[in-house]
Amino acid sequence: MMRPRPARVRLDHNAFFHLKFVKMALYVALYVKKNTYRVKSEIGSLETTKEKGEMAKQAQKAATKRCCYTFEEGDGANKKLLGGKGAGLCTMTQIGLLVPPGFCITTEANLDYFAQGSRIPVGLMDEVHDYMEALEKKTGKGFGDPKNPLLVSVRSGSALSMPGMMDTILNLGLNDETAQGMVALTGDERFVNDVYRRFLQLFGKIGLGAQDAGFDEIFEEVKKEQGATLDTELSAEALSTIRERFKEYIQKSTGRPFPHDPWAQLLIAIEGIFKSWMGKPAVDYRRQFNITPDLANATAANICTMVFGNMGNDCATGVGFTRDPGTGENVLYGDYLINAQGEDVVAGIRTPRPLKELRTDMPAIHRELEKLRGILEKHYREVQDIEFTIERGRLYMLQTRNAKMNAWALCKTSVDMEKEGLITKEEALLRMEPDMLEQFLHRRIDPHAKIEPLAVGISASPGAATGKVVFDADRAERLGKEGEKIILTRIETRPDDIHGFFAAQGILTSRGGKTSHAAVVARGMGKPCVSGDEGLDINYDLKEARVGKVVIKEGDIVTLDGTNGNFFLGTVPMLDPELPKDLAILMQWADKVAKLEVWANADTPDMASKARHHGAKGIGLCRTERMFNAAERLPLMRSMILAESPEERKSWADKLMPMQRADFLEIFRTMDGLPVTIRLLDPPLHEFLPSIEELLNETSRLREFSQMINALEQLPGTVTLLGPDLYQHVPSIEAVTRELSEFKAKGLDQKILNDKEHMLHRVRVLCEYNPMLGNRGVRCGISFPEIYDMQIQAIFEAAALALRDKIDVRPEIMVPNVCTLQELIWVQPRVEKIHLEVEKHYNVKIKYKFGTMVEIARACVRAGTLAQTAEFFSFGTNDLTQGTFSFSREDAENKFLPIYNTVGILKDNPFEILDELGVGWLMQLAVSEGRKTRPDLKIGICGEHGGQPQAIEFCHRIGLNYVSCSPMRIPIARMAAAHAVIKERRGHAASSKSL
Ligand code: ADP
Ligand code: MG
Ligand code: MG
Repeated sequence: MMRPRPARVRLDHNAFFHLKFVKMALYVALYVKKNTYRVKSEIGSLETTKEKGEMAKQAQKAATKRCCYTFEEGDGANKKLLGGKGAGLCTMTQIGLLVPPGFCITTEANLDYFAQGSRIPVGLMDEVHDYMEALEKKTGKGFGDPKNPLLVSVRSGSALSMPGMMDTILNLGLNDETAQGMVALTGDERFVNDVYRRFLQLFGKIGLGAQDAGFDEIFEEVKKEQGATLDTELSAEALSTIRERFKEYIQKSTGRPFPHDPWAQLLIAIEGIFKSWMGKPAVDYRRQFNITPDLANATAANICTMVFGNMGNDCATGVGFTRDPGTGENVLYGDYLINAQGEDVVAGIRTPRPLKELRTDMPAIHRELEKLRGILEKHYREVQDIEFTIERGRLYMLQTRNAKMNAWALCKTSVDMEKEGLITKEEALLRMEPDMLEQFLHRRIDPHAKIEPLAVGISASPGAATGKVVFDADRAERLGKEGEKIILTRIETRPDDIHGFFAAQGILTSRGGKTSHAAVVARGMGKPCVSGDEGLDINYDLKEARVGKVVIKEGDIVTLDGTNGNFFLGTVPMLDPELPKDLAILMQWADKVAKLEVWANADTPDMASKARHHGAKGIGLCRTERMFNAAERLPLMRSMILAESPEERKSWADKLMPMQRADFLEIFRTMDGLPVTIRLLDPPLHEFLPSIEELLNETSRLREFSQMINALEQLPGTVTLLGPDLYQHVPSIEAVTRELSEFKAKGLDQKILNDKEHMLHRVRVLCEYNPMLGNRGVRCGISFPEIYDMQIQAIFEAAALALRDKIDVRPEIMVPNVCTLQELIWVQPRVEKIHLEVEKHYNVKIKYKFGTMVEIARACVRAGTLAQTAEFFSFGTNDLTQGTFSFSREDAENKFLPIYNTVGILKDNPFEILDELGVGWLMQLAVSEGRKTRPDLKIGICGEHGGQPQAIEFCHRIGLNYVSCSPMRIPIARMAAAHAVIKERRGHAASSKSL
């Protein structure tokens, strides 16, 4: 079973390995015994026999399963088996790049390790042994051979990269003897000691479970003793001291001596890597980033011959990108450090130099890297993130993977790589996740700023913000009004913190996820938010927050980046939002592919022009109620609502009509040539009136005022009674009283009081138990016909005026909250009547469409009949979601939805992620029933989901004509509409999962 090895080393190894093996054999024997006993004790043990057969098969499979692949053999496309790092090493080797020889131990071996109760699978070490032997042959070195020792790295790597989560051991194979041999070979004791102490630390930590901090302390201690500030200043002797103290520390803290046998080291290292997959950091990381077992279920262990970047000044180690990941520019980008090893570049122990300086430092290597980046991109057809080491003037590749880039870089590289013929237009589009486009719309941190976040939370709402930390909403509001920039910092937020949100530039919480109150509200307001920053320990009483040892006091300046969840101390260089010029090209491609049109929800000419600028093909929802909230309009609106008779109501409506007409005209002008869908009044009328509490408060204050005037009239007399020396004040008191008495004589106080009391009365009359299910939308339109008449008049007159100015107007009148055809039949003739009157009066022909919002479950069910009258449907998925679930959105999001999400009753917030199975099913029904009646029925969606990529994909699948969303989300929606088609073509269209 074992191959002959150099005597001493082999003995050690065998002893260690045998111990393990004996334990395992014992375990197997016990298991078999237990099972035999079961077989005997159970009558009719067919099942057990079957089980046994299955077991035998498994064992057979395990025995024949191959666990190792050399870099020459491994299939570079199989990341699932070899992990991303292993696959990359195989590919690079096979396309002719210089990679230090080595092999991968598969993720399946790691799976078996866990399946067998955290035990190294039988046969694995034999196979590793064979592969190590081959490696020895290839390198001409011997593992544990003091004359010419082979050193290797043991590196973890799963199908998805998990930066900083799993581990790598460098320089394995060192012991006092092989170290001595290396000194003899290289003549460089300092180098060998440096390599040795690195190995001891990594091996001690990952293999034996010693604490990292202990090693760091020793290292700093010796540095201090030697008066050194940089690692490179440490002498060979100092490093030798470190190495000896490291060994002592390992013995002391783990209770095990450092194993000198390289084979024992290798076994421990492999096991350490295997275990790290289930280590807490890795498990937490996977949970945080939603890495499910179908994406990555284990780690590979890669054994790779060591090359040394720390053998002198003709050596270096570096990391780089084949293009600039911050801008996308087509240049080699990265850092290197002369005379360094492994993580030194990123660990920040010395300041690395930008790769462009390599051109003068090592011109030949620089040329080689330039050539290599072309080769890698040609092979992967994607920007690569690489690691390399230069040993005595030779460039070795150690890693390559697809680069993570920001939206700017993705955009530029997509367009560039298509031009260069590396990728197709479809691939260029698919590289751009629609939601990433949101990054263009917010301020962001300069990608080239060299800064380290203090802590990292959840990216809850995109964009970056800087301001003073304030721990409560009231204070935030006060300071905000004084013009201070505020970061509202809370453990978590609640609805009564809302005024603090308004005042803040950004929101930071130490608790809560992407659907927390803070996240939902901040996103709604378009403000940056980092939530669930658990490293942040907030103490309201002390008005301070701690991150480890750092204390942040109220008023300290911090910066947060809601796009990636980072949180920084102080200010950070920022860039203003801008649309990259390549985006236009990408968008053009997207529009060519997409079937869905993208329209906008826009209520004002300003929003309409923004929508047009972002490429909207129409307005899918123009809400008219906002037009009534302007200061000079609200009193008219209120009077109309308070009117006691239809005539009175009409007279107020007549005053509002020209104002609405002017609004519509402006919007028609802006949208010249494109459809504008105007929704008739939707909200319940009480929303335009003050609340009962407000009115009660005001009337009681007015009554107090009347009484006060009475009392004041008595005041001069009373004052004289008090004493003659106060008499001098009487004239001024009389002056005030006189004016107020005049006010009273005119009965003004009484009139105002009467008005308020009247309003209070009407508000009480209009008051509803459940306003969102009450007299609103078309129901209100039918109860008070003058309101809809006025709006319809305003729409057609605006259209007529626009036509006179040669504007191509396309009004579409949309009736909200419809549940039955009869409602449409009631409204439609009034529309037609006014239409004809206006046409006659202005002597024009106005083309228009009449349709309905579909936002009530019954409307979906009865869509076939609604389509008899409606020429278009537009899904109002906000109300439809509320109705389908019987959830009121505010209550749901603030109270029970977080609980539902936590315990897994609902996976998502249905107000954010369209509920395809329920709400979506109703939509699908409405589409098919509606089109049975009217095959050319135009159907869109104008709920918030209309801007959400996953919902857009669904809308495409069920055959809608357009989605309508907020102007800022239009680029996202256009991209999502294109993705929907491409994914469908490629057959990876998502299908609704059941819940
Ligand atoms: P990570 O997954 O953190 O990138 P790696 O396995 O890539 O970990 O290794 C950590 C560091 O050690 C990297 O800088 C890598 O380039 C370096 N390294 C790994 N193996 C070797 C080797 N055989 N020779 C030299 N350097 C190596
Ligand atoms: Mg690496
Ligand atoms: Mg609605």
